[in-house]
This record gives sequence, C-alpha cells and structure tokens, in this order.
Amino acid sequence: MKAARIHEYGKPVVLEDLPVPDIEPDEILVQVKACGMCRSDVQLIDGYFRPFVDIPTPITIGHEISGVVSGIGRNVPRMAGFQEGDPVGVAPGWGDGICRHCLVGNTHICPNVRWPGFGPYGGFAEYLPVPARYLIKADKGLKFEQIAPLTDAGLTPYRGVKKLRDAGALGPARVIGVFGIGGLGAYAVQYAKLLGGGAKVVAFARNADKLAIAKANGADHVITVKNKTSVAIAAELGKVVGQKDLDAIIDCAGATEMMELAFSLLGISGHYANVGLVGDRISVPLLPRVNREQTFHGSYWGNNTDLSEVMALAAEGKIRHTLKTFTFDQINEFLDLLRRGEIVGRAVMTL
Ligand SMILES: [Zn+2]
Repeated sequence: MKAARIHEYGKPVVLEDLPVPDIEPDEILVQVKACGMCRSDVQLIDGYFRPFVDIPTPITIGHEISGVVSGIGRNVPRMAGFQEGDPVGVAPGWGDGICRHCLVGNTHICPNVRWPGFGPYGGFAEYLPVPARYLIKADKGLKFEQIAPLTDAGLTPYRGVKKLRDAGALGPARVIGVFGIGGLGAYAVQYAKLLGGGAKVVAFARNADKLAIAKANGADHVITVKNKTSVAIAAELGKVVGQKDLDAIIDCAGATEMMELAFSLLGISGHYANVGLVGDRISVPLLPRVNREQTFHGSYWGNNTDLSEVMALAAEGKIRHTLKTFTFDQINEFLDLLRRGEIVGRAVMTL
C-alpha cells in the first residue's frame, strides 16, 4: 500500500510502498478514502512536539481519517454491526479503556492514549488498523472528504464551544469571539451559532479571505486585526455589537500575539476556550483574570460523543465545509502551503 512517512524530523515526508497491515482481533482494517491535513501534521514533521513527546520514526502521518471497513477482527462484537464496505470516520484518541478519564468517555485525554498519525499507522496511507470502538459509522449521504475533517478540524472547536456553552457563557445578549479562521475556525463560527443560543458571533483574523469564509459560515460580524491596536479593535467591536468586550472566546489559533489581544478583550465573568497551538506561551496581566473572574478552558480534540454529535449535525446538512482536495502525490506540496498559512479552509487528500 501507499504510505507517507516521516523518516527524519525536519525533512519532507517520504512517499513509499508498504505491506497492508495486519489487524488485532479487536480491530477493523480501514481502507482510507480521505484524510485531512492539519497544522499539527506540519508541527509533527517540524519537531514542535518533540520536547513533550519524542515519537520514534518512521511515523505515518494523517489523523483526520474517513474510509470504508475492509476487514473485521474476530473479536469485534457482532452487535457493533460493522460490515465490509461501511463508510466510517476514525475517532481520534485511542485510550486504554480502563482509567477514570476513559471510563467517563474522555478517551482522548487518557494518560495511555494512542493517536493515528502519530505512530506507525496514519491516514496518509491506503490502509490502517483501528480498534473497533473508535470507528463511527458515517451517513451514506456524506462524501468521504467531508467526513475526514470532522474528526479534528470539525471536532476540536465543537468541544471547545460546548465547554463555553456548558459554563453558561453563551446565550442572548452575549457576544462570542472566534479567533483564527483556519481549518478549525471555519467550523467554529458555525458551532458558535448552532450552540450559542442567540449569542452574537464575531470572527477575528488577520487574513481577509479567511474572514470571508467566517462571514459565509454565519459569523454576524468580522474584524480584521492586522496592524491594529487592541484599543482600536475594542472600539470597532463596540461599534458592531454595542459592547467593547467579549463574554466568550473560542480561540482556534493559539497564536501568542492573538491570544494576548484576545485576553485584552475578555469581559467580566468571561470564558476563554483555547484549542489552538500555533504559539507556545503567552504573557498576560494577572489582575483582570482575578478581578473580572475569568475562566480559561484548555480544550483538546474531542471524544466519541462529541464526534457522534458532529457527525449527526453533518448528516442533517447543518455543517458547511470549506475544502480543497488533493492527491497522495501532492502531500509535500500541500504541507508547504499549510506551513506558509496559504490554505483557506481544510485541505483533504482523497484516495
Ligand atoms: Zn484511559
């Protein structure tokens, strides 16, 4: 089978031929039909994660995976109802199933978690083995290139916005800011509308083309932040929504400068959910965090429940996709485009 692998950090991935993998008794062999390309693929190649987890090479990249069931392990329960040819999305974050995080469903924050695309098997390949409980059957009306990004770009901001909703930060007469309109942000503005309960949605980004996507996907207002002071941006926000601060923030970039701006706009009792990892640290004044009683939520990817909800919204036609498809041979070219921030929406490889 074809597979795209990191052999050496900091070098282009190698496109090569490998044997089709065997499956364990509790696994299903997935024939990949589409795989989204994520900024974290670029970061993995470039070594961003190495100070935290130094994954040994070779690594098959790609973690936003959709495909069809191609083989079923003998211990996969019949009641799971999988049949060869079923369209599926691969839930990320394969936990050990026994720790307290797994037992409440948060397998993606299990201390023993494994991820497709961060080890021997990934989605930029024709096949990969997946534990059966991490496959979610997809609606037959969805295209594979629509299903694939729902497992990260369309999932991660969903969990973040749910945290804001569950914290009571959304609702009528509230304003939520969406920061960073890349692959994740294009979905985040939609979830801010779908889960916002009447909250106004304002998208913030540097790039006008990306803000046009936010507008098309339902943002009530968009504000370009390039070359503007935080005071000017607060004034612009005041003009469009009638208040100069934000009740909630979903940050899909996690870029240092943008986070410092976003914190300066967070209001009294504000909630900040960050899902982005472009930067690696921030410096923000402490007093407003305390005397405005603000809350910061780290939010990481999503669990099976989150993904099932996202897949249900997609099956009902409630999610707009902004996609650019490419072929296996173009992987390195598209990694470079993504590294330079030149992809609008999500780039998805189709096989
Ligand atoms: Zn666990």
